[in-house]
Amino acid sequence: MPAPIGVLALQGDFREHRQTLKAIDQESIEVRTLADLASCRGLIIPGGESTVMQKLAVAYDLFEPLKDAISAGLPTFGTCAGLIMLANEISDGIVGQAGFGGLDISVRRNAFGNQLDSFEVDLDFAGIEGPVHAAFIRAPLIERVGSSIEVLSRLADGRIVGVRNTSMLGIAFHPEVTGETRIHELFVSMIDH
Ligand code: GLN
Repeated sequence: MPAPIGVLALQGDFREHRQTLKAIDQESIEVRTLADLASCRGLIIPGGESTVMQKLAVAYDLFEPLKDAISAGLPTFGTCAGLIMLANEISDGIVGQAGFGGLDISVRRNAFGNQLDSFEVDLDFAGIEGPVHAAFIRAPLIERVGSSIEVLSRLADGRIVGVRNTSMLGIAFHPEVTGETRIHELFVSMIDH
């Protein structure tokens, strides 16, 4: 049996990610302790609220260990707030906002303003055939990508909403709330390649 995939379960929609993993026959665990973190072969950081996730990670003594595990190469997949947590640079953060980093990108929080606060759209996504149905919920936007980054998905106007590097995958939207399983499958293939 391979080690399970961990889902950071401090805050946010970790249950939906576990359901999506179950739908593709992947064992998962909720990560709240160092022992949980040590026992998984990959990690998902869910959507939610990045500022709260940061505070809880500190309160659970997980902030530095998560940062270290990710920079040491633990395969990691962040969605929405999870993407913010993985960005090396954050715009429109609160004072003192910091993430785990690891992806050489800049993200802008809540980039779609009030009117387009939340919306759903079909996206092209590299490596996935046919449209990916994506829910954007107070989503961030990827405004800069470094040379280590592969762009996987853009909105019709060209704005970047999906990226990866060799060990990390980050998307601005929520596939786990629309029944979309193929991005999780892509992440599993990155873990097990
Ligand atoms: N706006 C949230 C944040 O800054 C992210 C929203 C989400 O994860 N759906 O963390």
